[in-house]
Amino acid sequence: MTISNIQRRRFDSLIIGAGGGGLRAALQLAEADASVAVVSKVFPTRSHTVAAQGGMNAALANVLPDNWHWHMFDTVKGSDYLGDQDAIEYMCRAAPKVVYELEHFGVPFSRLDNGRIYQRPFGGQSQNFGGEQAARTCAAADRTGHAILHSLYQQNIRAKTHFFDEYFAVDLLKDEEGNILGAFVFDIHTGEELIIEAKTTLLATGGAGQLYRTTTNALINTGDGMGMALRAGIPLQDMEFFQFHPTGIAGRGMLITEGARGEGGYLVNAEGERLMERYAPNAKDLASRDVVSRAIETEIREGRGCGPNKDYVMLKLDHLGVDVIQKRLPGIRQTCITFLGIDPAEQPVPVYPTAHYTMGGIPTNRQGQVVVPVKDTPEEAVNGLYAAGECACVSVHGANRLGGNSLLDILVFGRAAANHIIDYLKENHYHRPMNEESIEKAYQRLHRWDDTGEGESVEQIRSELKLVMEKNCGVFRTQEVLDQGVKEVTALHERLTKARISDHSAMFNTARVEALELENLMDVALATVFSACARTESRGAHSRVDYPERDDMNWMKHSLYSLLERKLDYKPVRTKPVTVATFPPKARVY
Ligand SMILES: Cc1cc2nc3c(=O)[nH]c(=O)nc-3n(C[C@H](O)[C@H](O)[C@H](O)COP(=O)(O)OP(=O)(O)OC[C@H]3O[C@@H](n4cnc5c(N)ncnc54)[C@H](O)[C@@H]3O)c2cc1C
Repeated sequence: MTISNIQRRRFDSLIIGAGGGGLRAALQLAEADASVAVVSKVFPTRSHTVAAQGGMNAALANVLPDNWHWHMFDTVKGSDYLGDQDAIEYMCRAAPKVVYELEHFGVPFSRLDNGRIYQRPFGGQSQNFGGEQAARTCAAADRTGHAILHSLYQQNIRAKTHFFDEYFAVDLLKDEEGNILGAFVFDIHTGEELIIEAKTTLLATGGAGQLYRTTTNALINTGDGMGMALRAGIPLQDMEFFQFHPTGIAGRGMLITEGARGEGGYLVNAEGERLMERYAPNAKDLASRDVVSRAIETEIREGRGCGPNKDYVMLKLDHLGVDVIQKRLPGIRQTCITFLGIDPAEQPVPVYPTAHYTMGGIPTNRQGQVVVPVKDTPEEAVNGLYAAGECACVSVHGANRLGGNSLLDILVFGRAAANHIIDYLKENHYHRPMNEESIEKAYQRLHRWDDTGEGESVEQIRSELKLVMEKNCGVFRTQEVLDQGVKEVTALHERLTKARISDHSAMFNTARVEALELENLMDVALATVFSACARTESRGAHSRVDYPERDDMNWMKHSLYSLLERKLDYKPVRTKPVTVATFPPKARVY
């Protein structure tokens, strides 16, 4: 087989990823009569969006007074002032419209008695710019992502989007001028390779929670799109900011939605104290996620953890009563019964922070165009390339994402990217000629794994990487621990270049997929530890014991990590919203 016999297919637009971000974009494009291909390494409705529990934010004011400007303030504050305020304004203003659209697509949102969409309180939400708790999160019980993803998939089937299910995207393809012209993919079932030529390519490949051993993320969340972007010469932005969700099931990592605390649940330590009163006297258990995760870690470090090893705290829900739990948190109840043998309607649940969300990613503007810094201009769009969803960094989450803002982000910016693509297609009628060299490179990357035989196993390196990241780039960080992390991940990266898949498993494409995924994960891990090592301040989820304060003088800027030379650059935060006044940085208390 040579590259000249590989089959080629042409579409106006290629979307890599069939989570909420990819499917929302695909629907917009298909309805505008563009020919759209969606490539997904798993069947679309198995994408991680399906696991989202708690809900999505929009200032509908159905339960308590609310407006988008308060939502914007909370998001800017939640981001620890690192989010770009123009993008945040755009997202918060668009939120109600995007929720109503979903409702029309068929999402069965939970209801109030008066028939309006139910909204629950979530962490970091306030009325009136930091006042009383708000209730802004729209939910379909505790299975919101499931409802959204299935509705979007069905709408795409109706709109005749073309799906390549269980195809793995290896790399982006481009021409000599750097225009992105599609991707090199293969069918995981048969191994057959395919070149997809497209006038535009949208990366919607989700996050990289598999960087850590204990995580809420699915096995498929390996940062593939981020890896592809790095190899195409695009830097990754703000990778030092990784969110740890405070309430993972202790020792296992599965998520217990923040909605559990939104419904009135709270955390207690071994002494039975309601611990969040100490760390966030006003918001208590609904303080921002970074704050709650640090509080739990601190309680445990100071000896107030629960259990025989004093290594977790308890989430108390039993006081809510079985009716509320069954109506609002049925999935959570089932998860606890299945994995712990504990019914939360009767007993408290052991919880511990778990890796959850990649705040950083591929830098984009509000239209979803991938942008890179170019000499003398702050940034320039990469022709034909877009990114949306968790793999992108637009940046609305800055240093810490608020619960309920990610489903919103993927839908708002999936839609915005599609709208920009529709305009782009009006001006760009023809497919540009491909550069055969970029096809050759992708081909070689895939076939490097044909060479079985002696060498370390991929699985061994993957499990070591996850441990190193957990130990050296977790909730609390110091220079020494991070330096060690850089050293160890660099060594693992080196070992991976010599690893092999065994003769036996090479018969299965799944082994090749795992090897390619680990290559992506490794590059994302390097980006994360390098960026974390360089940032000598504490901001949002990046918490440095040796630099405990936020340092706005020196660090109000986004980091940009490039693959070549493993180099870091920086660019300023966009602090000016489009139509309203800036929210200047203030001390962040809850
Ligand atoms: C357990 C859990 C609960 C959550 N709850 C909430 C919540 O209540 N509210 C909220 O706002 N956020 C929540 N989040 C976060 C939110 O769900 C995610 O950030 C969001 O759904 C990501 O969507 P996405 O479209 O970017 O990617 P995903 O849904 O992760 O989809 C990625 C897609 O890319 C495809 N893909 C990846 N790599 C390749 C490749 N190499 N080749 C081909 N295809 C590829 C995959 O097949 C998949 O289709 C939760 C996250 C988790 C893990």
